[in-house]
Amino acid sequence: MQTGTLYTVSAPSGAGKTSLVKALVDGDSRITVSVSHTTRAMRPGEQHGVNYHFVEQGEFEAMLGRGAFLEHAQVFGNYYGTSQEWVEQTLAAGRDVILEIDWQGAAQVRRLLPDTVSIFILPPSQEALRERLTGRGQDDDSVIERRMEQAIDEMSHYNEADFLVINDNFDQALTELSAIVTAQRQRLVYQQQRFADLLQKLLRRN
Ligand code: 5GP
Repeated sequence: MQTGTLYTVSAPSGAGKTSLVKALVDGDSRITVSVSHTTRAMRPGEQHGVNYHFVEQGEFEAMLGRGAFLEHAQVFGNYYGTSQEWVEQTLAAGRDVILEIDWQGAAQVRRLLPDTVSIFILPPSQEALRERLTGRGQDDDSVIERRMEQAIDEMSHYNEADFLVINDNFDQALTELSAIVTAQRQRLVYQQQRFADLLQKLLRRN
């Protein structure tokens, strides 16, 4: 069977990455999202095994020691990592996989697996980003400023990606994201595997 394609999707918090990725995978049975391991505390509404595998620092370190992570990084003081085994098995089963990870993780994955397709999502303006970061709760100004600083740090790595999507209008951004996946699937190397029988028949002479 054909091996799936690995995608990384990176964005600052507040760019709408998680909603876009969810909408993409909900509408496409050939692609799925990896559930990362993290040491950060669960937020209200999150579920263990759905948003993340929430683990203690000790367990994370033990997994790291066993080489269980394809990539890992420290983001905002917490550890995050992608299960190597899950990604390998899912790709080997012919499914496409999305890693929703920060720029450090995306760089590690690109080094290890150069065929990875990396996508960056940016907000339409700093004002829109600030509004989205503020809209989340009743945080004070210093917390918002810190989040803006972190968002700018993450955004400064946009030019390391293969594709860039600006999330001004959700539907438009989703169409663009999905176009990247579609175009990738039409690449000759993948189509040759998928349509091997057809191609052989088409070129047959009697
Ligand atoms: P949050 O804690 O807000 O869900 O995520 C914080 C940041 O960590 C986001 O930029 C997110 O993309 C990133 N992240 C989530 N999972 C992983 C992972 O497995 N590896 C890496 N490198 N970053 C991750």
